[in-house]
Amino acid sequence: MVKVYTIASGKGGTGKTTVTANLGPMLAQYGKKTCILDADVGMANLGLVLGLENLPVTLHEVLAGKARVRDAIYDGPFGVKVVPCGLSLQGFQQSNPDRLKDIMTDLVSEFDVLILDAPAGISKDGVIPLTIADGVILVVNPEISSIVDALKTKILTETVGGHVEGAIINRVADAGSDFNSAQMEKLLGVRVLGIIPEDPNVRRASAGRAPIVVRYPSSGASRAFRRLSADIAGIEYTEEATEQPRESFVDRLARALFRAKA
Ligand code: ADP
Ligand code: MG
Repeated sequence: MVKVYTIASGKGGTGKTTVTANLGPMLAQYGKKTCILDADVGMANLGLVLGLENLPVTLHEVLAGKARVRDAIYDGPFGVKVVPCGLSLQGFQQSNPDRLKDIMTDLVSEFDVLILDAPAGISKDGVIPLTIADGVILVVNPEISSIVDALKTKILTETVGGHVEGAIINRVADAGSDFNSAQMEKLLGVRVLGIIPEDPNVRRASAGRAPIVVRYPSSGASRAFRRLSADIAGIEYTEEATEQPRESFVDRLARALFRAKA
């Protein structure tokens, strides 16, 4: 059975696109047939952080009724499929967000997981992704304004008949002094699914048009994204299994010598 997640927040800039761009490839790596879609049709940037630009067909054309969704599916890292959005204002104006539900219906038979990168705010294009998901995942920063906005998004989701699966706390700079999981769960009234640290490699990876789990796999945020993805995929997480330690020069030499002798 397909599972549809919408990655949402109240406030912009909390890390929705970053979460989508890392969770998607990792779920694919863990064996789930996964498709990530840029439902932030006004401020699209999922394609940008994955190096998918200047594409002939995007979600804009599909939402405008000019193309089929299968023509807007592109290959992303680790086998994830990506439906990016165009960047033009005109494309946004011609998009009809009501079509999103039919588009999802077209994809459910082909994937185990669909992830929608939602826009911030409570406009129509923001509300529809909340209603069509099996589970909304809130991306929250450990600061009061972000928590209040996430709470509003939770209430909005429930008002329109949606279900909040839990929250991801992103950009945790200091595990000691920032809000912790228990406090967040109490404030938001939802389960904390994962904690992602503040990590300068997130931005570096985006600048290089790749998610951090691909570009800097041993960085702190990558480790946190792998743990979160394994939990969502329902598999046991062991760091050793996903991150092979690099063989030292001495070990490599010893192995080469041993092979030569054998
Ligand atoms: P949203 O999609 O919610 O608007 P983005 O995913 O685009 O947010 O993230 C906003 C900015 O914050 C980007 O510049 C991104 O690189 C940065 N960012 C996101 N998560 C982290 C993190 N864990 N550590 C450092 N920078 C981050
Ligand atoms: Mg975004």
